[in-house]
Amino acid sequence: MFESLSDKLDNALHVLKGHGQITEVNVAETLKEVRRALVDADVNYKIAKEFTTTVKEKALGQDVLTALKPGQMMVKLVKDELTQLMGGDAEGINLSGNPSVILMSGLQGSGKTTFSGKLANYLKTKKSKKPLLVACDVYRPAAINQLHVVGDQVGVEVFSDEGNQDPVAISKAAIAHAKANGHNVVIIDTAGRLAVDEAMMTEIANIHSAIQPQETLFVVDSMTGQDAVNTAKAFNDRLNFDGVVLTKLDGDTRGGAAISIKSVVNKPIKFIGTGEKMDAIDVFYPSRMADRILG
Ligand code: GDP
Repeated sequence: MFESLSDKLDNALHVLKGHGQITEVNVAETLKEVRRALVDADVNYKIAKEFTTTVKEKALGQDVLTALKPGQMMVKLVKDELTQLMGGDAEGINLSGNPSVILMSGLQGSGKTTFSGKLANYLKTKKSKKPLLVACDVYRPAAINQLHVVGDQVGVEVFSDEGNQDPVAISKAAIAHAKANGHNVVIIDTAGRLAVDEAMMTEIANIHSAIQPQETLFVVDSMTGQDAVNTAKAFNDRLNFDGVVLTKLDGDTRGGAAISIKSVVNKPIKFIGTGEKMDAIDVFYPSRMADRILG
């Protein structure tokens, strides 16, 4: 079994203290372990380095060297700082509109359609909302079918207009349909591509400016590591999105992408996806993610 990073730090510093040898150098050595763990968890190297520098300054300012349990104090410092870096408290989504329009963005395969279904289900069952799902992928008929399958699974109506090649017109018609039929949330699933390209960006930027959603979410596969950060930056530059959805956290990723994304685009991570089923959705809690990253 692997020793968790928390245990490692605790043991390392405790043993050192027992020998009366705990010094600034030891703290630096220990933080190297932290840095390694962060990089192993997919945190960008530069961000991991800045992070450990901050923790080192705090540690030395807080008498870790003379503390009774220096290891535990370090672990707490590291965890608190990680939590802070990922945004402190959990943030909700804006449901103030009538209807509230939520626009999904992200690459193909990131989990947008699946998450749209999960979010509709969550809002219906947990927040007593009446959502409408909207299929705006005008290139792949299979994507429209997939959203219908998902909508059937969660018992939420799906608006689509197969053959219509204009996603702005489809979105507007869907919002009018929602108003006429008492839907108070509209979730728009858009077309993604396998990589960032200009046509996709222009299309989603056009939808965004035409419908002015209350909430624009960027969906990203947590298994894609560093690429996730670059994609997040590209989408944020165009959409100035409101929050991030980190999917596939049921895989064997430690989830360090969460830290890198938050640091680069400075937007909150709002939800996580933890499986393919419609109930595999959770609100994002930075402190839980810090525990996961530290192992
Ligand atoms: P889209 O192209 O962005 O709409 O992505 P999809 O919703 O079609 O998802 C792509 C694949 O990832 C599908 O096979 C989904 O079942 C799967 N998927 C989506 N979210 C999750 C998740 O949180 N965990 C796992 N394990 N698979 C997921």
